Amino acid sequence: MKNFVSDYLKEHESYFKEVSAYIFNHPETRFEEYDSARFLADECERQGFTVKRNVADIETAFTASYGTEGPEIAFLGEFDALSGLSQKPGETSYQPMEPDIGHGCGHNLLGTGAFAAACAAKAYLEENDLPGRVTFYGCPGEEGGSGKTFMVREGVFDDVDAALTWHPSPVNAIMDLSTLANYQVYFRFRGKSAHAANTPHLGRSALDAVELMNVGANYLREHIVSEARMHYAVTNSGGISPNVVQANAEVLYLIRAPRVDQVEEIYQRLIKVAKGAAMMTETEVEIDFDKGCSNYVSNRHLESMLHKNLTEAGPGEPAQDEKDFARKLWNTLSESEQQNYLAPLSGFGYT
Ligand SMILES: [Zn+2]
Repeated sequence: MKNFVSDYLKEHESYFKEVSAYIFNHPETRFEEYDSARFLADECERQGFTVKRNVADIETAFTASYGTEGPEIAFLGEFDALSGLSQKPGETSYQPMEPDIGHGCGHNLLGTGAFAAACAAKAYLEENDLPGRVTFYGCPGEEGGSGKTFMVREGVFDDVDAALTWHPSPVNAIMDLSTLANYQVYFRFRGKSAHAANTPHLGRSALDAVELMNVGANYLREHIVSEARMHYAVTNSGGISPNVVQANAEVLYLIRAPRVDQVEEIYQRLIKVAKGAAMMTETEVEIDFDKGCSNYVSNRHLESMLHKNLTEAGPGEPAQDEKDFARKLWNTLSESEQQNYLAPLSGFGYT
């Protein structure tokens, strides 16, 4: 089978490169991947998969299945881009695209690689007349969206026996460690507008509440498990006029910790901080839970199988022009950046 798969991928290399290039050139952010999802779903149909669109009531989620009996092997493909992380292809200095949305962490490759794997597995089953089901899952919103969580909730993965996924990285390796669980939550404060010089005593500032909440959260930081992470972005500062008391303001929190129960505990304490900020400023707070994701649970058996196969297959030899480009990119880093480049990865079990 291994030879069949590697021959298949070599034979169709230029096709999969075109698929990846299309997604790279049509970058779209989480849950707005209309073009990329349509394109990939159409390609799945062209390859003979049965495609279901709008699964789990998400416009950019789809499944593409082959086979009717036997175990179902799933390949998970993501294709969302990030804002503020674009780069013109082939350039080694910072040159963002217009608008500044791009595949900074390589989801053009992620979606295409999983699609290629599904095509190769399907071709193998067909060629050898074997039972088994292969499904490519078009999963939107990896970046801050946890799209798959909603798909799981709606039962889209209920039939799956094993699911495989991957992510572009500076190294070829099997991930054998967990990831942090996380919650993402909006805190919306509502106060009362007033002229900030004329009648400030009549105003109640929602922006003050956001600032006080952030101060409280930064004090909370010292008293939570040290592996936890709390990040926030002020997603509505209440306008651009300093002479108006801001009636509405919003802050988005992302809380992470090794386990879901730890995230839950921090979240409950953060709610108290938000309510305290509302009380101090006589504003109201509305809490809007955006999404949550559990920590990744390892599957040692699948990991060792993947590791054995990856070791046998090897990483593949890059072409000379790819090596030249990588060298040019490498040379844009300072000596200390080069020395530290791989250091954080060892902590994640990549090396
Ligand atoms: Zn990513």
